[in-house]
Amino acid sequence: MHTTSEHNDLFDICIVGAGMAGATIATYLAPRGIKIALIDRDYAEKRRIVGELLQPGAVQTLKKMGLEHLLEGFDAQPIYGYALFNKDSEFSIEYNQDKSTNYRGVGLHNGRFLQKIREDALKQPSITQIHGTVSELIEDENHVVTGVKYKEKHTRELKTVNAKLTITSDGFFSSFRKDLTNNVKTVTSFFVGIILKGCELPYPHHGHVFLSAPTPFICYPISSTESRLLIDFPGDQAPKKETVKHHIENNVIPFLPKEFRHCLDQALRENDYKIMPNHYMPAKPVLKEGVVLLGDALNMRHPITGGGLTAVFNDVYLLSTHLLAMPDFNDTKLIHEKVNLYYNDRYHANTNVNIMANALYGVMSNDLLKQSVFEYLRKGGDNSGGPISLLAGLNRNPTILIKHFFSVALLCLRNLFKAHKMSLTNAFYVIKDAFCIIAPLAINELRPSSFLKKNIHN
Ligand SMILES: Cc1cc2nc3c(=O)[nH]c(=O)nc-3n(C[C@H](O)[C@H](O)[C@H](O)COP(=O)(O)OP(=O)(O)OC[C@H]3O[C@@H](n4cnc5c(N)ncnc54)[C@H](O)[C@@H]3O)c2cc1C
Repeated sequence: MHTTSEHNDLFDICIVGAGMAGATIATYLAPRGIKIALIDRDYAEKRRIVGELLQPGAVQTLKKMGLEHLLEGFDAQPIYGYALFNKDSEFSIEYNQDKSTNYRGVGLHNGRFLQKIREDALKQPSITQIHGTVSELIEDENHVVTGVKYKEKHTRELKTVNAKLTITSDGFFSSFRKDLTNNVKTVTSFFVGIILKGCELPYPHHGHVFLSAPTPFICYPISSTESRLLIDFPGDQAPKKETVKHHIENNVIPFLPKEFRHCLDQALRENDYKIMPNHYMPAKPVLKEGVVLLGDALNMRHPITGGGLTAVFNDVYLLSTHLLAMPDFNDTKLIHEKVNLYYNDRYHANTNVNIMANALYGVMSNDLLKQSVFEYLRKGGDNSGGPISLLAGLNRNPTILIKHFFSVALLCLRNLFKAHKMSLTNAFYVIKDAFCIIAPLAINELRPSSFLKKNIHN
């Protein structure tokens, strides 16, 4: 790794943001002889509530890239499935329906994992580490992006980096997406994140989903002694401290299993929580020569399913595969073609991850539909096996997703009928709610190619 103050060299790639996406693609590409400038404004370990549960799909992609070792050595925990709680009922669903442990997720401290990826990347001699904040993309007279301007952290000087391809992976508050996409970003809700210390989970090594409250909350281990509790707070305005307290007292504590109560009390006494917005932003990139978007800068979904890193690693792998198919980085037109291929291929890889995240959040926040999804999954067999393979990011077949979604809506109608609550109004609301959840997602995410390609992750 080099740390130079002048960058007269021409890099193959300049990466803006050494976060989950930027650091991972750097560490994957650098050993393949690609000269990379990796820029971030902050290389210190972050304490974040994001990206702490990797679904098996994300783990499989790391494996495929030969990077699975990056999950070792910092007390990350295997996750074998999910437990669901609704009123007095509970059950679990395993990722592996055959009792094997072939597929597993991982619960971890995001900051520790990111430092591990960065360390691995910065060991590579073909990576130049730059500590600074990128302020602008540089373009030539043909509007081709040829690098970036940044303010160096220690000297406060404005400097430039020149590269044949710039990857902007500057995360959810990206400054560059406004010129590179037609995206509309919406805030679906907020997550209040709390760490529970020394709390024995009712289902060890499982994600826990609680449906009794008006909107869901989830919990999963992130080390051998800590679990993350993420409490959904609906609306598009960040809740104030008092409102959070009121929400937890009325909508969370009454529905928590007893194992959690004293750990939550202790965390609340220490006032140790963070709040993050949950965005939905479908990918609508605008093609521009010399630059490509990666990670949350391009595409975001609700984090309830922990699908973010599945999509990030899918994208890292796809973009890398296309770039590595070139003999070198000397042909600007060829680079542009490869970027275009990546943008097209990534729809199929991420369709289910994106639809599943927001559809499940919609269903779990809807009184009638959430009872039905609970009952539907509890039946087991294909009713749980299909949905868990989608949630895990292992099954990319959108037909399966649509089938299970409408089966839940049908079950809801059947339950109303059985309970003699079926009226035209009720039936109308169930059908309307189901369509309002799925239709915009299908329009944004589905492409004909989503139905044609290979659908099982291996
Ligand atoms: C509340 C919440 C919970 C989540 N939980 C999960 C989960 O459990 N599982 C999961 O898979 N996904 C989860 N996600 C999603 C996941 O965290 C993201 O998809 C992932 O972190 C995106 O990675 P990224 O590299 O695009 O962005 P980031 O990891 O945010 O990296 C962006 C990097 O860019 C740098 N940067 C920004 N601007 C500049 C600039 N101008 N100059 C230089 N550097 C810059 C930043 O310092 C940062 O290092 C969650 C998201 C949220 C909001």
